[in-house]
Amino acid sequence: MTDQAPIVIVGTGLSGYSLVRELRKLDKTTPVVMVTADDGVNYSKPMLSTGFTKGKDAKGLAQGVTEAMAEQLSVDIRTYSTVTGIDTGARELVLGDERLAYSKLVLAWGADVIRLGLDGDGLDRVYSINDLLDYRAFRKALEGGKRVAIMGAGLIGCEFANDLRNGGYEVDVIAPDAAVMPSLLPEAAANAVQQELQALGVNFHLGTVVQRVDRDGQGVKLALANGDTLAADLVVSAVGLRPRTELARAAGIEAGRGIVVNRALETSAPDVYALGDCAEVDGQVLLYVLPLMACARALAKTLTGERTQVSYGAMPVMIKTPCCPTAVCPPPAGAEGEWDIEQEGSDVKARFLSPAGEVLGFAVTGRFAVEKQALSREVPPIHS
Ligand code: FAD
Repeated sequence: MTDQAPIVIVGTGLSGYSLVRELRKLDKTTPVVMVTADDGVNYSKPMLSTGFTKGKDAKGLAQGVTEAMAEQLSVDIRTYSTVTGIDTGARELVLGDERLAYSKLVLAWGADVIRLGLDGDGLDRVYSINDLLDYRAFRKALEGGKRVAIMGAGLIGCEFANDLRNGGYEVDVIAPDAAVMPSLLPEAAANAVQQELQALGVNFHLGTVVQRVDRDGQGVKLALANGDTLAADLVVSAVGLRPRTELARAAGIEAGRGIVVNRALETSAPDVYALGDCAEVDGQVLLYVLPLMACARALAKTLTGERTQVSYGAMPVMIKTPCCPTAVCPPPAGAEGEWDIEQEGSDVKARFLSPAGEVLGFAVTGRFAVEKQALSREVPPIHS
């Protein structure tokens, strides 16, 4: 029975669809079932923070309706189907009352947004944007509004700040650290991005947090820990993501910060694999597109009989703040060395150099952003 069971992939985000595309290049016939809690529409998640700049709403950002994806990739796609458990012994996925047998199971179910425990009666005006359905709801709620407060000054908070300014909105960004993108950028590059966003009209409230969001007429009033209050039509929460590990843990599958997999993307359960935002690959949780694409290529080979380990090269990330084009390739955690900075105004070239002078990472802003490719070639691959 199990031998005839399909390969089952949970998730129709970039990880799920990239994997099936790679799989179909190698094997056109093995039955594949994709299961997703959402509507299965194909879209590129990084584009969610470019909607106003590119003049696209949620509909415009959709790249393929579910039926077309199913036909094009020869897969069965079950939409609005939430996985509630995994029975690794029986090799079955649990979907509420239903069970679905798998021959091989791939978990590509992404990461959850972190929600802050805020006080106040205006919390229904706080939006997190982590998929196209969220984006649709956000755009609808924003109709007629003018002012948006963004909690969080990480990559996503800064990108939305730039995009919403480009859309003509008044934007306030509130975040606890002294600089923007503190875990991603060295200070000089972070300051450059912040300065250009400020020049564009974004108001920053750094070193403080939002404590309350209360209704105020049609909009809300935010109370900050530093005593300030702000008015907004709605609030975007961009305070981080956490890989979805709970269901895997409950099924006895090893999880740490993400679902633990080796370089062959194998979890601790037989014939169960994971990739993308939910996975901790060889000790690394990288919530970006390049790593998941590399994983999709390797896993497609493994699923078709050629066990393959993923190899990560340098993993640069473009930060979509068009007011200050920025690219970053963070040095490995705990790497020995220091930042070497070249700077003219908001044009920053920061290279993280080892004691031997090797470039281990970089961040480039403004006119130096075009050096991204050349610098990426200098950075040693994550897996050599
Ligand atoms: P997701 O896209 O989250 O897909 C998860 C899928 O699993 C969904 O289909 C969901 O419905 C399904 N699912 C979840 N739970 C269940 C369940 N229990 N049962 C059934 N189905 C379930 N990365 C970059 O590299 N560059 C960028 O510029 C960049 N910009 C970004 C901008 C924004 C605004 C955001 C939010 C992210 C950005 N990222 C960027 C990160 C990148 O988009 C993600 O790393 C990537 O899209 C993750 O894809 P995924 O398929 O792993 O997860």
